[in-house]
Amino acid sequence: MKQLFSTDREAAVKMDQEDALKVFRDHFYIPERTLYMDGNSLGLLSMEAEYSIRRVLNEWRDLGIKGWLKGKQPWFYFAEKMAEKASGLVGAEADELIMTGTTTINIHSLISTFYQPEGRRTKILADRLNFPSDIYALKGQISLHNLDPDKELILVESPDGFNLREEDIVSQMSEEVAVALLPSVLYRSGQLLDMEYLTREAHKRGIVIGFDCSHSAGVVPHHFSKWGVDFAVFCSYKYLNGGPGSSAFLYLNRRHFDKEPVLTGWFGNKKETQFDMSLEFDHARNAGGWQISSPGILGSSPIEGSLELINEAGIEPIREKSKQMTGYLVYLLEELLSGDPYHFKIVSPRDADRRSGHIAITRERDVFRINEALKNKGVVPDFRPPDLIRIAPSPLYNTYQEIWQVAQFLKEIIDNKEYEAFSSQRDAIS
Ligand SMILES: *Cc1c(COP(=O)(O)O)cnc(C)c1O
Repeated sequence: MKQLFSTDREAAVKMDQEDALKVFRDHFYIPERTLYMDGNSLGLLSMEAEYSIRRVLNEWRDLGIKGWLKGKQPWFYFAEKMAEKASGLVGAEADELIMTGTTTINIHSLISTFYQPEGRRTKILADRLNFPSDIYALKGQISLHNLDPDKELILVESPDGFNLREEDIVSQMSEEVAVALLPSVLYRSGQLLDMEYLTREAHKRGIVIGFDCSHSAGVVPHHFSKWGVDFAVFCSYKYLNGGPGSSAFLYLNRRHFDKEPVLTGWFGNKKETQFDMSLEFDHARNAGGWQISSPGILGSSPIEGSLELINEAGIEPIREKSKQMTGYLVYLLEELLSGDPYHFKIVSPRDADRRSGHIAITRERDVFRINEALKNKGVVPDFRPPDLIRIAPSPLYNTYQEIWQVAQFLKEIIDNKEYEAFSSQRDAIS
């Protein structure tokens, strides 16, 4: 798939013309005068997602409580239905996946099932570059067993502060480890871990392993069941374009269907007997058993339209375009912005197969102000302290010309020292 890129604008125009997924951009609401490069934090609204929100609103208006069974996508089965639609993106069988909760809650739920410290196996394995919320959840779960998180949580170190080495992770898989929770993709550098390899190595050592795929779901295909991953979670508001705070997904390999959920709730009951309202919890023997409450039908309604669009485009073509886009961005950064006086450094893996959908860059100084100057030009990147800018071209709605433009802007910002006009003060959400 190697392609010779060029720094000319015409090359970007040509790539856009030849782009097999170009029709999808017109399905999205692109904020005006904006180069939106933040699909890894909050994906944009599509017309399909807007339609499914409206349809659910109308159902509530017209059907009231009858919507639970009479909605076009009956609300009572909505979570299962969305899981079915998402299952192909991650290589799950439909009943191994459920739309439920939020990412962090699902981590709590799954870890409370799988983390049963016993004998020497008392530790949880994660990594130093993990997303903070995941680490908070793991520490909380250790504390629930009256154990000391500082002792029982192993955090694999990164040699360069941005990326991990799988060998380092495997070397920490001792017989004291009960459960490993790792990201599919490191949220800063965008490094994609070899989940199949890590799963195999964990299982050789009797360790249960799960992944947080929030930064890959919808842009990188996964094969959870084939790889034998024990469990996984992912949110739906990043590359899945499900809307701010929309419901997350929980994956449970079917070999664990006989396990017991610990954070139990009535929506985890078997569908057929849920409304018998028995005080004996009779949990569904599939991923659905890990549901807790009524699914947030309104909040998750956009997921339906969004998944339809993603499935129409196909996860493999999405991945191909994503690799091409990040490859083009890497090329422009190297050609135009690595030498004097620019000195941008790419911290994401160079091999497209080892990274997800965004590119992270840094520089010796002024990174925050450069990011501010980029925003001032209408670009929406994001900044991760202390000194990282993440640029995420989404394959469904960004163009090669936008990527070219972002590179030109970065060049202008340095050429004209435009960043000097901005202060180093940060907002609450960047
Ligand atoms: C986005 C993200 C989250 C977000 O968690 P919420 O509970 O949905 O707020 C958690 N973990 C990772 C790795 C993420 O990328």
